[in-house]
Amino acid sequence: MNHQFGDFGGQYVPEPVIKALEELEQAFNTHIQDPDFKKEYRYYLNEYVGRPSSLYFAENMTKELNGGKIYLKREDLNHTGAHKINNTIGQILLAKRMGKKKIIAETGAGQHGVATATAAAMFGMACEIFMGKEDTDRQRLNVFRMELLGAKVTPVTRGTQTLSDAVDEAIEKWVERIDDTFYLLGSAVGPHPYPYVVREFQKIIGEETLKQIKEKEGRLPDYCIACVGGGSNAIGLFHEFVPHDEVKLIGVEAAGKGIDTKDHAATMTLGSEGVIHGMRTIYLSNEDGTPMPVYSISAGLDYPGVGPEHAHLKNSNRGKYESITDEEAVKALLYLSQIEGIIPAIESAHAIAYARKFVPTLDKDQIVIINVSGRGDKDVEAIEKYINEHHIDIKQV
Ligand SMILES: *Cc1c(COP(=O)(O)O)cnc(C)c1O
Repeated sequence: MNHQFGDFGGQYVPEPVIKALEELEQAFNTHIQDPDFKKEYRYYLNEYVGRPSSLYFAENMTKELNGGKIYLKREDLNHTGAHKINNTIGQILLAKRMGKKKIIAETGAGQHGVATATAAAMFGMACEIFMGKEDTDRQRLNVFRMELLGAKVTPVTRGTQTLSDAVDEAIEKWVERIDDTFYLLGSAVGPHPYPYVVREFQKIIGEETLKQIKEKEGRLPDYCIACVGGGSNAIGLFHEFVPHDEVKLIGVEAAGKGIDTKDHAATMTLGSEGVIHGMRTIYLSNEDGTPMPVYSISAGLDYPGVGPEHAHLKNSNRGKYESITDEEAVKALLYLSQIEGIIPAIESAHAIAYARKFVPTLDKDQIVIINVSGRGDKDVEAIEKYINEHHIDIKQV
């Protein structure tokens, strides 16, 4: 098996799926080199998404932590409130070029479903989102959002009725309908070429950041920090900096209720190598190799695997991976809200929480970039519930 990222990646899928993946890879490699395709992609990122997103000097946080200088990459300012739209726009443009008429996608909490339904509406494509039945019950508002945007949401009733089953269902339907249907995957995971395609559509984050930090500081940063679920916002920020060894890359995953409990999603910290969702990577498995049920307060980080490129960055010591608990993340969300007036997504709050512990150990002339992958509007209800149940003083963070 050919692995794209060191020992990781590959295509661990049945024969009919390999054919579909080959068609995708060939189309992607052709169109990504076409200047008109790039121009169109950039046009929609600028005019529709609102890019470039700002690289904001977090002056208050910098003073308060009294270590390195902190900049926030503001993906929360994008249309639909997170980085996911960068990828959905790219893949839908590709689908159009391939002559596909319909988009299908999987979603867990619904964020990728909403980003997909948004871009499908704008480009006039039919859109069907597969979502575990459990998840449709838990995330009713997001189901309605997708419907509002004109998408059809299909509940998946097999297995655990959650994200993993939605992925399986979406892939099966894709192969059945390959002639007119494009499968739009939401993170830097899955069989090749998806982790590569998603990275190429998210690397705009790091490209902008590199330019912006050079304008502001005249040099590269010392650290880039991002939260990791499947790994798309993190690889989007990291990619441009990978060749620059002096820039340290730190991914932050979800420790849930703690890595000494069963309720976490600390893939890199506690996982092992194996095959999940069509790729060889690091994942959390039961003794029989099946994916472990994972938990995090953050729906976007609640995934048992991680993108193969992150597994490679970890094994080659180019990236470091840390974990943050629910409680630390919730407190970091309150902290950033009150110190900078920015309510981050609970996913992004994991990166903020790690920076809060780490930055005070640095010299003042060091530069730290944190990716604020999304905004926290979607999380306020859950945060209110959490701080009430855990008796956290909203002002004492
Ligand atoms: C989905 C999501 C994530 C996690 O996905 P990655 O692919 O790891 O980036 C992180 N932050 C936000 C705001 C999200 O919506």
